[in-house]
Amino acid sequence: MHNEIERILISEEEIQNKCSEIGGELSREYENSFPLAICVLKGAMPFMSDLVKRMDIHLEMDFMDVSSYAGMRSTGEVKIEKDLDTQVEGRDLLIIEDIIDSGRTLNYLVDLFKYRKANSIKIVTLLDKPAGRYAQIKADTVGFEVPDEFVVGYGLDYNEKYRNLPYIGVLKPEIYSGKND
Ligand code: 5GP
Repeated sequence: MHNEIERILISEEEIQNKCSEIGGELSREYENSFPLAICVLKGAMPFMSDLVKRMDIHLEMDFMDVSSYAGMRSTGEVKIEKDLDTQVEGRDLLIIEDIIDSGRTLNYLVDLFKYRKANSIKIVTLLDKPAGRYAQIKADTVGFEVPDEFVVGYGLDYNEKYRNLPYIGVLKPEIYSGKND
């Protein structure tokens, strides 16, 4: 798999250190709360998993699946594939995302959770790609800023592959053009 990666942008060690740093901050912030950590599937799964293990407080976890991407392109339309099992009314929400690109997904989720009367909403994203922004949305916590490139690994896929890489990288161009199929 490694030989399909052109270069590594963020190493496994950098990601793990960042999870410890953010986990520590969130633990202090939510010390007296019982937040609901919401994993935006599928991409945020590895980040959520590592992050909550570094949070030394009581929290609840739930999972939501929304889609706006097919292949390498955002379709512009956000669709709920799987809703939460938990009521969010009156809860302190921690939305855990893999990457904010256009911002459409998070914009949609924040509006939805406001409508459902959450007490507070905080956005934690591992990656931020500000160049791709379309919707007016800003994360409260950002792990790393990335350039305007399509990245894979640590939850992020290209046609469902590469999610299990422990780092964030860029694929070789021939992988996208299908020459390797
Ligand atoms: P947004 O709604 O902010 O445009 O996009 C959010 C979702 O699009 C992310 O959760 C992620 O699944 C996908 N996405 C955005 N940029 C990238 C990228 O560079 N690589 C991959 N693999 N997915 C991306």
